[in-house]
Amino acid sequence: MARARIIVIGGGAGGLELATRLGNKLGRKATADITLVDRNPTHIWKPLLHEVATGTLDVDIDQVNYRAHARAHGFDFQMGTMTGLDREQRTVTLAPMYDENGEEILSERQLSYDYLVLAIGSVSNHFGTPGVPENCIFLDSPVQANRFHRRLLEAYLKLNSPGHPKDNLNIAIVGAGATGVELAAELHHAAAELNLYGFGDMKRDRLKISMIEAGPRILPALPERIAAAAHRELVKLGVDVRVSTKVTAADEHGLQLGDEHLASELMVWAAGIKAPDFLKDLAGLENNRMNQLLVLPTLQTTRDSQIYVIGDCAGCPLPDNKWVPPRAQSAHQMASVVATNLMAAIQGKPQQPYHYHDHGSLISLSRFGTVGNLMGNLVGGAMMIEGRIARMAYVSLYRMHQVALHGWWRTVMISVIGRINKIIRPRLKLH
Ligand SMILES: Cc1cc2nc3c(=O)[nH]c(=O)nc-3n(C[C@H](O)[C@H](O)[C@H](O)COP(=O)(O)OP(=O)(O)OC[C@H]3O[C@@H](n4cnc5c(N)ncnc54)[C@H](O)[C@@H]3O)c2cc1C
Repeated sequence: MARARIIVIGGGAGGLELATRLGNKLGRKATADITLVDRNPTHIWKPLLHEVATGTLDVDIDQVNYRAHARAHGFDFQMGTMTGLDREQRTVTLAPMYDENGEEILSERQLSYDYLVLAIGSVSNHFGTPGVPENCIFLDSPVQANRFHRRLLEAYLKLNSPGHPKDNLNIAIVGAGATGVELAAELHHAAAELNLYGFGDMKRDRLKISMIEAGPRILPALPERIAAAAHRELVKLGVDVRVSTKVTAADEHGLQLGDEHLASELMVWAAGIKAPDFLKDLAGLENNRMNQLLVLPTLQTTRDSQIYVIGDCAGCPLPDNKWVPPRAQSAHQMASVVATNLMAAIQGKPQQPYHYHDHGSLISLSRFGTVGNLMGNLVGGAMMIEGRIARMAYVSLYRMHQVALHGWWRTVMISVIGRINKIIRPRLKLH
């Protein structure tokens, strides 16, 4: 019998864990051919992107090179961006690739599959607000996070130069979900650190961060008590938190909030997400309003059992008529269910349903604290945690992802190297 061909599109929180597991279980034994496709050459766990943006993450330690990882775990890697799907022929189309001079390096390609897994994540949703795509930065990818970091350093340089007319650096963050809140705290931390590295005029009190939230409170997806604790911390840091405030437009000088114009040199849009537009009407598959592809409890699409969807781009209904939330923990859980289901499908065995388990949420306020809740039978429902325990739980989320990719031994080595690097390298990226 011919070997089954499994293609996973998107090597993020869910897709890379899935490809690794399938490679280890099937690829190494040559039971199936596993191919991972991603538009980037390396992987960074998306919840770390705000640390890439502020320069506080050591990217060299935390990024995973897809080719090297694929070789070590029994799967193939193809760099490319998926642009099309032919369900009859069972092929996906990858866009041509160009070098920086615009010359074609790779022409458009078609890859054939027996089973396809879509794990391409989500993008920011600006709800059609005028001026936002041109003037705001999104934190959807490492490229965008690096762009923000470059602009941040340039803004600091300008502020630090003699005769600069402005007293402060104004940064506006739209959206007070986890991304916005964590970014605000991390920016304060980065400003304090930069002060040690030659940006002598850049005191933390010259950093003016405004956080704009349309809803009545910050962290709308989290319990009220946690949101209140995070709100207090942000106010203590000097963040101007504005709730029930809608951004009506953006221009190169700032944000329009109804009648008021809020001047800002840097604007970050972190208010809501949707699945990428190209999934809308993709080869006749069904979508919800967020462009997510609708799936059955087995995570197969409603119209094609050979296609599975995991992570942020999966429209997976919950019993209470809501959707499985777009979180790293959902992507992680879905990856392990689809790994089991694909192995069962190849052997002609029945498929397992996916049940979402909410283990709680944690918000890191950089070194200023961590707040969150843990959920589950072990803690008897929901329990609020703060401080050191919360910080440990927050870090352990990422460690779980690393263990899924590298195993325990390597994960321990990576964290030891990370600690050593903290001693021998600057505390943040300065270029
Ligand atoms: C700053 C920030 C902080 C966050 N913090 C938390 C947190 O604390 N806890 C939590 O649970 N969640 C958090 N999240 C959400 C979490 O990151 C996502 O829910 C999770 O990464 C989703 O995983 P995924 O596998 O669906 O997609 P992703 O991890 O986004 O991966 C998608 C992959 O697909 C690739 N890709 C996209 N389009 C294509 C294409 N057309 N062709 C080929 N490849 C493609 C991308 O390059 C990427 O590698 C945070 C998100 C952000 C932005």
